[in-house]
Amino acid sequence: MHEVSLMKNLLETVERVAADEGADHVDVIHLRIGEMSGVNSDALQFAFEVLSKDTVAEKGRLEIDHVPLMIRCRACGSESHVEGFVFLCPSCQSAEIEIVSGRELEIDYILVDDDECGEEEREGHHGAHYEGR
Ligand SMILES: [Zn+2]
Repeated sequence: MHEVSLMKNLLETVERVAADEGADHVDVIHLRIGEMSGVNSDALQFAFEVLSKDTVAEKGRLEIDHVPLMIRCRACGSESHVEGFVFLCPSCQSAEIEIVSGRELEIDYILVDDDECGEEEREGHHGAHYEGR
C-alpha cells in the first residue's frame, strides 16, 4: 500500500516532536494501527528501517499496537469483533451497527531521549547509545 509515504509523514511528525522536546533522538515510536486501516505493519516496519536512517529516529524502535475491528450494535447494544468483514451483529443479526474501533492510524506516544533520564531509559533498549553531556 502506501506505507512508505505514510512513514515519511510519520517521521516528519516525529522530527517535529523531538525538536519541540529538544531531544537528539527518539527511542520509541508507538503506533496504533486498526485492523481496518489497510496498513501492512510489516511493510511499515520495513519502511521505518529504511527511512529512519539519518533521522532522530535512526536508533529508535517502532512499536505497533494492533487495534481490533470492533462494532457496536445499535439494536441490541452488544459489542463484537468483526470476523471476515461481516458487518452484522452476531447477537441479533442487525445491520444497524457502528464501528467502535479498527480504523486507527495514529501515533500513540513517542519516547524521546533526553540526557537527564537517559540512564533509566536505557533499560530494555538495546542498541541505543547515549552520549554524555
Ligand atoms: Zn444486535
